Amino acid sequence: MTGRKSILTTSTGCPIANDDTSISAGKSGPLTFDNFRLIEKLAHFNRERIPERVVHARGSAAYGEFILNNDLSDYTCAKFLNQKGKKTDVFVRFSTVGGGQDSSDYVRDPRGFAVKFYTEDGNYDIVGNNTPVFFINDPAKFPDFVHSQKKDPRTNLPNPASAYEFWANHPQSLHQLTILMSDRGIPYSYRHMNGYGSHTLSLWNNSGERFWVKWHFKTNQGVKTLTNNEAKGLDTTGAQADLVYAIDAGIFPSWKVCLQIMPESEAKEYKVNPFDLTKVWSHSDYPLIEIGELILNRNVENFFAENEQSAFSPGNVVPGVGVSPDKVLQARLIAYPDAQRYRLGANYNQLVSNKPKCPVHNYQRDGAFAGIQQESGNQTSAVNFYPNDRTGSPRPTSDVSEPVLHLSEELVIAAHEGSYGDCFRQAGDLFRIMTDDQKDQLIYNIVDGLKFATDSVQDRMINQFSLADPDYGKRVLSGLEEC
Ligand code: NDP
Repeated sequence: MTGRKSILTTSTGCPIANDDTSISAGKSGPLTFDNFRLIEKLAHFNRERIPERVVHARGSAAYGEFILNNDLSDYTCAKFLNQKGKKTDVFVRFSTVGGGQDSSDYVRDPRGFAVKFYTEDGNYDIVGNNTPVFFINDPAKFPDFVHSQKKDPRTNLPNPASAYEFWANHPQSLHQLTILMSDRGIPYSYRHMNGYGSHTLSLWNNSGERFWVKWHFKTNQGVKTLTNNEAKGLDTTGAQADLVYAIDAGIFPSWKVCLQIMPESEAKEYKVNPFDLTKVWSHSDYPLIEIGELILNRNVENFFAENEQSAFSPGNVVPGVGVSPDKVLQARLIAYPDAQRYRLGANYNQLVSNKPKCPVHNYQRDGAFAGIQQESGNQTSAVNFYPNDRTGSPRPTSDVSEPVLHLSEELVIAAHEGSYGDCFRQAGDLFRIMTDDQKDQLIYNIVDGLKFATDSVQDRMINQFSLADPDYGKRVLSGLEEC
C-alpha cells in the first residue's frame, strides 16, 4: 500500500477508515456493539496510567555520560572505574519526593538524584538524593515517616503539625531536618544542586580488599536556591522546563563526581557508625577525591516510556561495587524492585531506559510483556534451565565473587535499637558553619511549620535544637514567641 506510513491504524496495524464518528443505530440512536475501533481507543485510554510512585512520583530525567578522570583500579575492579578517560553512558532522574506527578517542582522537600551507569558489566544504579543524609536510620520507620509528611488523610491537605509530630518523636531526623529547612531546602533547579549517594556503599578490588565509599556529585552550575517567597509564584513545572530547555539548547549540565573512601578496617573505629544514614563522614576525616565528571546531554524522546517507566534499584550493582550493612539500604534492596514489579511487571528491566547495554543471558522466562523491546524476544529458543549440558549456555563465573564480609560483633538476632549514638552533633555542626543570613532563613523556615504543632511537639523540638546548639534552640524559641 502506498504512503502506508501516514495511514492511521489500529494497534494491530489495520488501516482505519473513519476515526471521527462512532457507529450508531440511526443518526441519533444508541451506539452498537460493532464499535470495536471506538472500544479499542477508549479501553486503551482507560489504561494509560500505571501506578504512580508512592514517593518520587514527579521526576525529570535525561541521558548523558560519566567520564572517569582518576583511575580507581587500586580500589575496585569495576570496569567503568578503571582506566582514566573511560566514558560510560548514564541516565539520571531527578525528582521531588512527597508530591504526586502533577505537584510543584518548587516545594521544600529533598530531591531524588538517581544515576544509572550503563556499564559493560551491567547497570549500576546510585539511587540518592540532593542531601548527604536522610531522616531515619531504620527502615521500619519509613512508611510512618512518609505518611506524616504527605497530605492529611481527612483534609487531603499538607499538615505541618503531623510532620513535626513525627520529627519530635524521632531525634535522629534532626540533621536532615536542619538541611531541609536550610537555604538549600528548595533548589533553584535540578541543575543547581548537588547529589549524594547518601548511603555508605562499597568498592572491592581483585585482591579481595573492600573500601566503604560515599558518592558526591557536586554541581558545576553552582548551588542556587530559592526562599519560600521566591518559590511561591513560580510555574509549578519550572524545574522540568529548565532541564529540558537547557539540554535542548546545548547547555549541558554537569557535576564533578567525588568519593570519600574508607578502608574496611577503619569502619569499626570511626567516631560515628559509618552505616548510619543520618550521619556524614566529616570531610576533614575523609576528604573528597575527585574521580570524574557527569554530563547530561540528551533529553528523553518519550516522557512516559523513558522516565515514568524508568526503574532504579540500589541492588543494581556490577562486579567491583557493592552495598553495605546500612539498614535502610538493605530494605531498599527489596523495596525498590518490589515497587517496580508492582508498577511495571516482572520484565521491567527490558524497557527502554532500564535495559542494560550489555547482553543479558539468564534462565528467566515469560511473564507479562516478555520480550518487549528485545530483538531476541524472551531469549528465543535458548535453554531455559540451569545447570544443563548444552555447549555455550550461560554459567556463573567465580571471577566476580565479592570479598566475604566479616561480622566481628557477637551476633544476636533481635530488633536492635538505639545503637546510633549522638543525633545532635552533626545538625549542630551544620548550624555552626552557616552564615547569619543562612541561620535566619533556617529559623524562619522551621517556625513557619512548627507554629502549627502542639505545645508538647514544640517543646520537644526546641529541646532537640538546643542539644544541637544552644543558639539554635534559642533562636527557634524566640521565633515562635514572635508568632
Ligand atoms: P565541611 O565544612 O568540610 O563541609 C561542609 C559541607 O556542607 C560542604 O560540602 C557544603 O557543601 C555543605 N553545606 C553547606 N551548607 C549546606 C546546607 N545548608 N545544606 C547542606 N549542605 C551544606 O564540614 P564537615 O564535613 O565536617 O561537615 C559539617 C556539616 O556539613 C555536616 O554536619 C553536614 O551537616 C554538612 N555536610 C557535610 C557533608 C559531608 O559529606 N561531610 C556533605 C554535605 C553537608 P558545598 O561544598 O556544596 O558548599
